Amino acid sequence: MIANELANIAEIIHKQREFFQTGKTKNVAFRIEQLKTLKQAILENEQAIIQALQIDLQKPEFETYISEISVTKEIDYAIKHLNTWSKPKKAAVSWDFFSYSARIYPEPLGVVLIIGPWNYPFSLITSPLVGAIAAGNCTITKPSELAPHTSNLLAQIIGKYFDPKYLAVLEGGVEISQKLLAEKFDHIFFTGGTAVGKIIMEAAAKHLTPVTLELGGKSPCIVDTDINLEHTVRRITWGKFINAGQTCIAPDYLLIDKKIKKNFLDGMKKCLAEFYGDHPANSPDYARIISQKHFDRLAKLIKDGEIIIGGETNPAERYIAPTVIDHVSLTDPVMQEEIFGPILPIVEYSDITEAIALINSRPKPLALYLFTQNKNLQKRVLQETSSGGVCLNDTLMHIGVPSLPFGGVGDSGIGSYHGKASFDTFSHDKSVLKNSFWLDLNWRYAPYKDKLAALKRMIG
Ligand code: NAD
Repeated sequence: MIANELANIAEIIHKQREFFQTGKTKNVAFRIEQLKTLKQAILENEQAIIQALQIDLQKPEFETYISEISVTKEIDYAIKHLNTWSKPKKAAVSWDFFSYSARIYPEPLGVVLIIGPWNYPFSLITSPLVGAIAAGNCTITKPSELAPHTSNLLAQIIGKYFDPKYLAVLEGGVEISQKLLAEKFDHIFFTGGTAVGKIIMEAAAKHLTPVTLELGGKSPCIVDTDINLEHTVRRITWGKFINAGQTCIAPDYLLIDKKIKKNFLDGMKKCLAEFYGDHPANSPDYARIISQKHFDRLAKLIKDGEIIIGGETNPAERYIAPTVIDHVSLTDPVMQEEIFGPILPIVEYSDITEAIALINSRPKPLALYLFTQNKNLQKRVLQETSSGGVCLNDTLMHIGVPSLPFGGVGDSGIGSYHGKASFDTFSHDKSVLKNSFWLDLNWRYAPYKDKLAALKRMIG
């Protein structure tokens, strides 16, 4: 049964609460079983997933595999480690607590809400869902209405393989999102823009619901002279233009040492031709902009600075060519708002201090990229800047390493997930201290007379 058929949001939540109370989801074997079912559901629907993403974003099949269907790897990782993650962990106690033992018990939070964006519309729902299931929660997910075919497919798949009293998908836009936010959840996991993130947090505060906010921002990409130019060009071109630049951690703008700028741009021109041919509009490997509204927004951003590569647009197809813009001003909209499209502005520097100062004058980004072999420079940038994550000498790849928690800092987000971090995000660490009955020293009990001096010696 598809959850939408259950008319009332409050009723779904009520049913999920009842199911959670049965304690079934606390059983680790049950959770592993559900993770296996989710993997099976994805694999059995591979072709439908590819097709939905083709319609929503003209996403190439390769990109759908690498960034959406690959969530199955996360499922495998969770299944492999779940027994260890879910076991109570012994905690150390000091000598004066010698008759005690301490343990930390991870326990599920209850009924959680996951709200997703449209750019990786399948994996950005299913990836947090893996964490929610692994940690033993019941979950309602709300995919993005801007990728309607993927949203509908998610509702069908989850509706077919799972009971809505355990996992439910509710489809719709802002209105349904706000109806959901009016209810009390035990956690809200939101992926989307910073502005909407604030709305989510405000709604959550009314119920004192904890949030994870996976937001966006302008992720800078610094290019020094001490690099392998060919590798640098390919890695940046790939990271920027995959999914037509609609990636939360895409390099937003380039900060490049002016000594290497010309060679870099020549290289990027060649690289783009190699990747997408002379007419990227005809390439089967180049995606489209999600909606007319986003197309119009991006088409305006192209007007800033001087286009040195690309710049062609086709509104009927929502096509924007891979575009590189030089001579932008820091006050231009393209350097003020998150681009989230296939436009790369170039900002040159003659001293790295200028580049670091620019980054630090802006909200903390979700990702920061630095291309250099110079270890001192790597150290300096790591020390002097703050960002959700950093990838040295590559782009995007840090998102695929499950041992690295993924999330933002400051305006780019709150909390993190992936691998063990996903399990932790959807769990409460319950601290448990146990005493025994073989001894009961008198030092803490009234009357306190004559005990204060001993206490002072102990604490001092
Ligand atoms: P968005 O914030 O517009 O929408 C995200 C979700 O919120 C959608 O499901 C939408 O229906 C819902 N929503 C929108 N307005 C709402 C409102 N007023 N009240 C309640 N719910 C509302 O984001 P988007 O356009 O779908 O995605 C793009 C943004 O997401 C970019 O900023 C990008 O950087 C960010 N993003 C971040 C990550 C990450 O992992 N940190 C990943 C992907 C995208």
